[in-house]
Amino acid sequence: AKLAGRGTFRFFTPTMDARAQARSRLAGELSDALEHDEFSLVYQPVIDMASGVVAGAEALLRWQNRYIGAINPEQFVPLAEEMGMILPIGEWLTLAACREAMAWQGCGVGPLRIAINVSPRQVQQTDIAETLRRALDETGLSASLVTVEITESLILGAGAEVVRKLERVRDLGATIAVDDFGTGYASLSYLKHFPVDVLKIDRSFVAEALANSEDARLIEAIIALGHSLGMKVVGEGVETFEQQMFLAERGCDLAQGYRFSPPLAAERFREFVLQSRA
Ligand code: C2E
Ligand code: CA
Ligand code: CA
Ligand code: CA
Repeated sequence: AKLAGRGTFRFFTPTMDARAQARSRLAGELSDALEHDEFSLVYQPVIDMASGVVAGAEALLRWQNRYIGAINPEQFVPLAEEMGMILPIGEWLTLAACREAMAWQGCGVGPLRIAINVSPRQVQQTDIAETLRRALDETGLSASLVTVEITESLILGAGAEVVRKLERVRDLGATIAVDDFGTGYASLSYLKHFPVDVLKIDRSFVAEALANSEDARLIEAIIALGHSLGMKVVGEGVETFEQQMFLAERGCDLAQGYRFSPPLAAERFREFVLQSRA
C-alpha cells in the first residue's frame, strides 16, 4: 500500500520514519543491555494501611543505556516483550529481586514481601514457576515472601495452560496479584478460575477517588469483591493524605504511592525501612 505517486497517500511519512528509526535504535541497544549490565531494580515500599509499617516492596525495572540515558519502562517493556527480550530480562530480574529480598534479612530490615512483575509473554512462553524456583534455590529466599504480579490482559486471553502455570507458582508457596485491576475488560468470573490472592486497584481510580463518585464506588466495589473472595487489596498510586484516608476508611489492606515513597534504589529502600521504624 505504498503508492507514492504525486497526490497519493504516502504510508511512510517522514515523522513515522523518524519514529521507526528511533525504535530500531532502541531495539538494538535493548538487545545488548543485559550483557552491558544496564538494568537495575528499584523498590517501591508497600505499606500496611492498618499499622503503617512497611510490608514489602514492588521491584520495578530501570534501564540506563550508555548512549541514550534512562529509558522509561512504559517505553521499553512493551518493546522488550515484542522482541522476546523480556524472557532473559525476566530471568535476570527474578534472581536480582530474590537476592535483594534475601539480603534484607541479613541487614536488619528483616523478612519483607517482594513483588515481581511478569509480563504476559513471560507466562506464555516460559515456565515462570521453574524460573522462580531456581531463583529461590539459588538465594535461599522463602517462596512465601514472593508475590508475582500478572496483568488482567494475561487472564483475558488465557487458556488452561496459563492457569496450570500460575497454579505451579502458587504451589511453590508464592502469592499471585492481579495488577492494574479494573482497567482490563476481563469478566469477573475469571477470578473464580484463577489462582489469585491479591487485587491491585489501578492508580487511575485512586487518582480520581475524591473527585469522581463513580471512581469512588468502583474502588469500594473492588475492595468488597476482593475481600468476599478472601483476597487482599492494594491501592496503587496513592499520592495524597486524602487518598490514603479514603482507602484506609474503606478497608483497603495495603497501599503504595508517592504519598509514602517513590521507587527507591536498593540502598535507599533499606534506609527507608530502617528509618520508618526509628
Ligand atoms: P506498574 O507495575 O503498574 O508499576 C507501577 C508504576 O507506577 C511504576 O512506574 C511506579 O513508579 C509508578 N508509581 C508509583 N507510585 C506512583 C504514584 O503515587 N503516582 C504515579 N503517578 N505513579 C506512581 P514505572 O516504574 O515507570 O513502571 C511502569 C510500568 O512498567 C509498570 O507498571 C509495569 O507495567 C512495567 N514494569 C516495570 N518494571 C517491570 C518489570 O520488572 N517487569 C515487567 N514485566 N514490567 C515492568
Ligand atoms: Ca546490538
Ligand atoms: Ca506492578
Ligand atoms: Ca499497577
